[in-house]
Amino acid sequence: MASLFTVGEILAATEGRAEGLTADGVSSISIDSREIGPDALFVAIKGDRFDGHDFVGTALANGARAALVSADKAGALEGALVVVPDALEGLRNLARAARARSNARIVAVTGSAGKTTTKEAIRTVLGAAAPTHFSIKSFNNHWGVPLMLARMPREAQFGVFELGMNHAGEISPLTRLVRPHVAVVTTVAAAHLEFFDSIEGIARAKAEIFEGLEPGGVAVINADHDHAGLLVEMARASGAGKVVTYGFAEGADWRIERAEAADGHMHAVVRHGGATIPLSIKAQGRHMVANAVAALVVAEEFGVNRDAAVSALAQFGAPEGRGETSRLGPPAKPLLLIDESYNANSASMAAAMDVFAGQSAAPGGRKVLVLGDMLELGEKGPALHAALKDAVLASGADAVYLVGSSMAALADALGPQAVTDHKFTTDEIAQSVLAGLAYGDAVMVKGSNGVRLSGLVKQIRERF
Ligand code: ATP
Ligand code: MG
Repeated sequence: MASLFTVGEILAATEGRAEGLTADGVSSISIDSREIGPDALFVAIKGDRFDGHDFVGTALANGARAALVSADKAGALEGALVVVPDALEGLRNLARAARARSNARIVAVTGSAGKTTTKEAIRTVLGAAAPTHFSIKSFNNHWGVPLMLARMPREAQFGVFELGMNHAGEISPLTRLVRPHVAVVTTVAAAHLEFFDSIEGIARAKAEIFEGLEPGGVAVINADHDHAGLLVEMARASGAGKVVTYGFAEGADWRIERAEAADGHMHAVVRHGGATIPLSIKAQGRHMVANAVAALVVAEEFGVNRDAAVSALAQFGAPEGRGETSRLGPPAKPLLLIDESYNANSASMAAAMDVFAGQSAAPGGRKVLVLGDMLELGEKGPALHAALKDAVLASGADAVYLVGSSMAALADALGPQAVTDHKFTTDEIAQSVLAGLAYGDAVMVKGSNGVRLSGLVKQIRERF
């Protein structure tokens, strides 16, 4: 059986001590005792709310072959154990080992918005060419990245990883662990502003991703924001072997010349080095085209055939909750639902409002907007919420529902005439939104994950 790690490899990588081990190796790694993969190694991580060491018994009962645990907790534990000074550092050591033995070409993605979507576009393209390992969900933090890297199979030809941060200094250790051949920055904008003085500070924190580039590595930078120049400079300063820009901006190395929406697709024309490349994707919005072009750039750098990359992207659509568009009910007069419930910050709001503005309801239908708080914006929060006023007014919305305390600032800015309803929680507003919807309407639901608008989306799907 092809194993992810033999026990010998685990002990060598972690310098751990084996206790009661009977397995020869493990085929998967889990940190959640409820989700134990086949022949799993359970890693006991200590989080804010839970300590994995409390779940070692459950994990072993659920089929884990062994548990990687911290020495100070080991005395109280029974069963098959690998004991290390610190379990999280043990996981990082497994990640380093998976990386060190691998021949895969590695790409890392960060940015204020669009990391997961761009990662999905990249893995779609690379996965069509060769076995590709990629981060799941948004596992992009100090435990998510080592977990995803440690899971990389020996035979992977490509690896795609999402790197995230809330504070300066967090991307640096992650990129040094991943050691990407290509590092992508999707965009820079107001997100997690509570921990930063300025957007420039955010740009500098994103640029840390270049610190981990392999010698001669490639920096891939979206050119459509104010700090693109700074990122290019910082990539060079970090010793990137090559810097490639992409986007709508004039002068971008991969320039999106046109991007038009038609029948639920985006059709674009990209220019690169004298070539004209037609590109179609199954997603809405100019930002989605940019995400897809990032994947084209990565494919090119990894020597994947360009035509194959373009045809793989023809199947690329918005991941769940990130602009996923559905037509519910009668095909002649459906309810058009744009599900943006997964996330919201200034950059992604702008992108989503652009898509919504371009949508029309069926004859007799209405355009309905449900916006929830953009969280983690700190003291600039109220101003950034109020600033959505123009986009809302320009969007052609017939009904505007606002959810959350930060949205009070937008409610004030718009005035009572323009706001259909404002409530503090999704539960409170759900009934009035549902009562106001009808077949033929076009509704977009967007807010930070913490507002739980996904619950409303579920109810809309059940009702229509
Ligand atoms: P998280 O920090 O939560 O992991 P993320 O950076 O992975 O977020 P995605 O989940 O890919 O971002 O997308 C979140 C939202 O950002 C989407 O719903 C969409 O509205 C918007 N978005 C996607 N790509 C871009 C982009 N290139 N520029 C701006 N907004 C984008
Ligand atoms: Mg993500």
